[in-house]
Amino acid sequence: MNIGILGLGLIGGSLGFDLRSQGHYVLGVSRRPSTCKQALAVGCVDEAETDINLLATADVVFICTPIGLIIPKFAELINYLPKNCIITDVGSVKTPIVQGMAPRWQNFIGGHPMAGTANSGIEAAQRNLFVDRPYVLTPTLTTPKYVMEVMEELVGQLGSKIYHCSPEVHDLAVSWISHLPVMVSASLIAACMGESDRQVLEMAQNLASSGFRDTSRVGGGNPELGVMMAQYNRQALLTSLQQYRQQIDEAILTIEREDWQALEEKLSSTQQARPLFWDDGC
Ligand code: NAP
Repeated sequence: MNIGILGLGLIGGSLGFDLRSQGHYVLGVSRRPSTCKQALAVGCVDEAETDINLLATADVVFICTPIGLIIPKFAELINYLPKNCIITDVGSVKTPIVQGMAPRWQNFIGGHPMAGTANSGIEAAQRNLFVDRPYVLTPTLTTPKYVMEVMEELVGQLGSKIYHCSPEVHDLAVSWISHLPVMVSASLIAACMGESDRQVLEMAQNLASSGFRDTSRVGGGNPELGVMMAQYNRQALLTSLQQYRQQIDEAILTIEREDWQALEEKLSSTQQARPLFWDDGC
């Protein structure tokens, strides 16, 4: 198949490596000529240009730009593509993208490969990034069956675990396991920094160990990504933040009442529930 990739960064470049290794012919388009040159040099594309017209012969196009550019780039792209071309995107939030694109292109399907690293750009692209990682497809009622079939075949070739759900279910699910944790972790750091006694704060900073390292990690990450999550997944994030606030209020009440039995029951139930999300044996 001829595969088009628009946006040759971490995700776009990594897709290029693995789809090429499966025998596909990969056409890459990116903003900067230096990125196109580098993509060719590292071998994640067969051809690369800054001109979007290069994608006119693609059977499937993956839009892999930063999330805020996905819809504008799609609007530009559809002027160049034949109607039978399949368009997909890799954006980490799905509802606004699917709502903006599905009504304008019959052969569109949203997607989200749930793999990444802390790095970005073509230098960060790597082989086998998607192996054993979830890849969510978010079809709508009008998505043609063969579009699903083609995408499932390609995603299967990446070695990913395929999941399907509506864009709304996707956004709420990623809010729980990705976007809410960033806000909770950032709030934890901010609350600690709010300690007014300098000696206590310094001692806390000196004593912080693995528990604080684990719970503060995502709150200490890239601020732009956190803002992007809140901006594009606002409603789902607000829903999960409100439910989280309810849990905090309940914990305060339980401790104020010195209801140690209720606290133990709560912590026992969360101890049992954690392996349902992540079972690393610790
Ligand atoms: P990235 O490494 O920054 O790559 C994005 C690339 O898009 C850049 O390298 C840039 O290439 C290119 N680009 C920027 N503006 C462009 C334009 N106007 N036209 C064409 N290309 C343009 O970002 P990423 O992490 O791969 O993320 C890309 C998408 O994947 C986002 O929508 C994100 O939500 C999604 N995603 C990210 C992750 C993750 O963990 N990072 C995981 C899953 C999904 P130039 O060098 O040419 O400027």
